[in-house]
Amino acid sequence: MPTSESSSSWLPIEVIFTLSRLFWQASSWRQAMDEVIQVVRPHFVFDNLVVYGLDPDTLNLEVGYARATGRGKSAEADVAWGEALSNQVVEQRRLMLQEPPQTEEDRLQRPYMLGIPLQMGETLLGAMIFIRFGGPPFDPETFPFVEFLSQQLAQAILRERLAHEVSRLEVQYSGLQAQEDFISALSHEFRTPLGFIKGYTTTLLRPDTHWDAATQREFLNIIDQETDRMQELIDNLLDSARLQTGRIKMNFQPVRLDSLLNDVVARMQLRHPELEVNLQLDQPLNPLLADPQRLAQVFENLLSNAVKYAPNSPVSITIAPDAEGVHLMFADRGPGIPEKYRQKIFERFFRVPDVQPSIHGTGLGLFICKQIIQAHQGQIWVESQLGQGTTFHIRLPWKP
Ligand code: ATP
Ligand code: MG
Repeated sequence: MPTSESSSSWLPIEVIFTLSRLFWQASSWRQAMDEVIQVVRPHFVFDNLVVYGLDPDTLNLEVGYARATGRGKSAEADVAWGEALSNQVVEQRRLMLQEPPQTEEDRLQRPYMLGIPLQMGETLLGAMIFIRFGGPPFDPETFPFVEFLSQQLAQAILRERLAHEVSRLEVQYSGLQAQEDFISALSHEFRTPLGFIKGYTTTLLRPDTHWDAATQREFLNIIDQETDRMQELIDNLLDSARLQTGRIKMNFQPVRLDSLLNDVVARMQLRHPELEVNLQLDQPLNPLLADPQRLAQVFENLLSNAVKYAPNSPVSITIAPDAEGVHLMFADRGPGIPEKYRQKIFERFFRVPDVQPSIHGTGLGLFICKQIIQAHQGQIWVESQLGQGTTFHIRLPWKP
């Protein structure tokens, strides 16, 4: 037994400072305890130390930490010693001692125990139990120190719990926020065509007005276009969900890329007569094994993006075949994409903020493009210079 324990100022103040610092600086309370035990042991003797945590939901006490420091006993095996005392300590919320009956025989096997609750204000966090096998009994002089330790530990445990709780709530909140943003973007996207369809239909049906054939046709055309837009929106949503879970099978067949591109461009120009496209192909092109419908979808989205985000700019499409496959480039001379968004535009639902709110979109197009290109074992990426323009690159192997 260390003699220092019986003198009245047995613990140097520097040790107290060191302990406080350890509790504040350690990355977890368990790590703090490992270091604290090293510092405490020369001054305050014990064989085992067990920290019980109180589960806030079940109110059960569970071992959160156990260390054996001496006399040949393993901490795990001795945990059971402290269980009864820890329950009492938590119930009565005060420091308690438990001493073995003074039987002669196995005195060295009988534990002296000191238990103290871990609490912050009204919040009960658990209990800490010190065990000495065969004594000596715990000296009341040391109780203030034990109280100090228990308070420091309680603070450290509570800090850690609060930090976990905060990060859990942060994750939950950002999930909710993303969901809410998505639903509001989607509702907005649906509401616009739906508004047109409803408006023009109601107008046509008004019993008190007669519309001439040309006006009727004009209104019906608008309804037709807006229905297409809704259809496209729904298709995109379904595609993006199915592509992400790998539930869309590609229908691979030999494809002549140049004629596929010519078809897509012609179709886009029908919808957007102002779109100017220059297609460059320097050498004859072998057929590529690919899904023509899906590739057309990729090219359409790139061209429709150019129409939306690089209006009035011509688009040049370059097809460059080599030994491994084909390199395609779609270059516009629009405003470009800021560096920090260039990776993100391929994510589902991502749209560059601050782009004119009148430009419609759900941020699904490039996500779908990437999934389709990847299903062909290819790559898609973007290069852009602000104020100069944007180039989308696609590499496709001859065979996926
Ligand atoms: P959707 O294609 O689903 O109708 P969207 O066009 O907004 O909606 P993406 O095609 O995935 O979605 O494009 C993502 C974002 O990338 C766009 O919102 C836009 O901000 C930016 N972007 C795409 N292409 C260009 C481009 N050629 N020039 C500048 N910005 C672009
Ligand atoms: Mg798009």
